[in-house]
Amino acid sequence: MTPVRTVAALCRQLDEWRVADNTIALVPTMGALHDGHLALVRAARERACRVVASLFVNPAQFAPGEDFDRYPRDETGDMAGLRAAGVDLVYAPGTEDMYPSGFATSVIPGGAALGLEADYREGFFSGVATVVLKLFMQTGADVAVFGEKDYQQLVVVKQMVRDLDLRIDIVPVATVREADGLAMSSRNAYLGAAERDRAAGLFRILMETRGVLGEGEPPEVAIRHASRRLEAAFDVVDYLSLRDPVTLGVVETRASAARLLSAVRLGSVRLIDNVAVTLPGGE
Ligand code: AMP
Repeated sequence: MTPVRTVAALCRQLDEWRVADNTIALVPTMGALHDGHLALVRAARERACRVVASLFVNPAQFAPGEDFDRYPRDETGDMAGLRAAGVDLVYAPGTEDMYPSGFATSVIPGGAALGLEADYREGFFSGVATVVLKLFMQTGADVAVFGEKDYQQLVVVKQMVRDLDLRIDIVPVATVREADGLAMSSRNAYLGAAERDRAAGLFRILMETRGVLGEGEPPEVAIRHASRRLEAAFDVVDYLSLRDPVTLGVVETRASAARLLSAVRLGSVRLIDNVAVTLPGGE
């Protein structure tokens, strides 16, 4: 299996499959794959005849000064992992293939794309939505699989599919974690040994907060307490917020389901994570 680099070559293969009535699932990634990505591939295989994985470090979703240049890249290792996981086609376009000269159209999502990550990563969701829409159009996939690890991104993609009447099903996959609870991420490679030990504190604090919220502690008390703990454990706390799991809006007082989301920094490394919360006494 060799990666397909151009839209024309991608269409040739996909057209053959479509003539044979094969359904197609897409797994978009930026490469540097880990077990979290492979869980997405497994979910894709359960839902379609053919699985396409994309490998593309999308410059449009990196703000100036972010880690685009040093983002981990390992196409050879990724190809081996994807082949072993049963992917049928790897689409790895170059930047010029995805954004040819003269490219001038972008998606600007509102709603769920406002606040949280957007407050810290300028242009991020526009970059994500634009490349994801292009991948959907290029592949014509029936299904696309996204990780709950990037929960706001998942909600923004679902919102785009609804708003633009895209005929594709979005399948979420639960976050795959290291033994100590740290969410797997390509960027975990940036963590030094001491930082790596501290990093698992994020999931621990989120889970303990989920516990007290489930037992009925008022959200403002639980969030205040958890924020203090995060501030003690990490260098910077970008946010800790309890949101509606569908819209990412403020949680209704009578809600039963919510999502607790956080981003923190350890030195120059930024960690994000989130957990589902069940609030007692809701409807
Ligand atoms: P990335 O390569 O980081 O852009 O991620 C590609 C896809 O993999 C996105 O849908 C992510 O949400 C998903 N993903 C990344 N890390 C994990 C993880 N630990 N568990 C599940 N999905 C993940």
